[in-house]
Amino acid sequence: MKFRDWIKTITFYEILLGMKETIKHLVHYKPITLQYPHEKKPLAENYRGMLALLRYDDGTEKCVGCDLCEAACPSRVIRVISTEVPGEPTKRYAKEYYMDMTRCLFCGLCVQACPVDALGMTREYEWAVYDKRKLHLNKEQLLAIGDRAFPVREKQLEFQHPNVAYFNVSFKDIPEKAN
Ligand code: SF4
Ligand code: SF4
Repeated sequence: MKFRDWIKTITFYEILLGMKETIKHLVHYKPITLQYPHEKKPLAENYRGMLALLRYDDGTEKCVGCDLCEAACPSRVIRVISTEVPGEPTKRYAKEYYMDMTRCLFCGLCVQACPVDALGMTREYEWAVYDKRKLHLNKEQLLAIGDRAFPVREKQLEFQHPNVAYFNVSFKDIPEKAN
């Protein structure tokens, strides 16, 4: 054993080194614990919280019942039962829409898959419940979350480009295809 190592052994050098860090921490102590729920951590800008169904500014539901969100979800959270809009056979809507939030990963794939931006991720996270059946949400509950989380709604556009209408086989007055 070298002389330097021998000195380190008899003076408990490693222990003193460790104690130095402990004392440094004690002297410059800054509490990092937040007293939740009285104190809350600021959320990141892109925080992905509870999911919600959205409406247009006139209150119409955005969802067209296409099932793409259901297909995109890796955890089989979503179940959509869609049907025709009464009196408008070319349009569909989600007659029933369910989300089992006990399975959700908050990955956001359903939001990205939706072609009409009918789904949104809110900044809500305080959803702890005693009965997990309460996390099986229906359409009305999801719309209510959307109403309170996104008070500014997107304007509904009635305009349909002729090229889109051309492929709509049930469209009664098929317009000339635009050049
Ligand atoms: S956030 Fe992900 S896991 Fe949750 S419902 Fe959407 S696709 Fe499914
Ligand atoms: S939420 Fe979007 S993707 Fe899901 S069924 Fe409705 S329109 Fe389709």
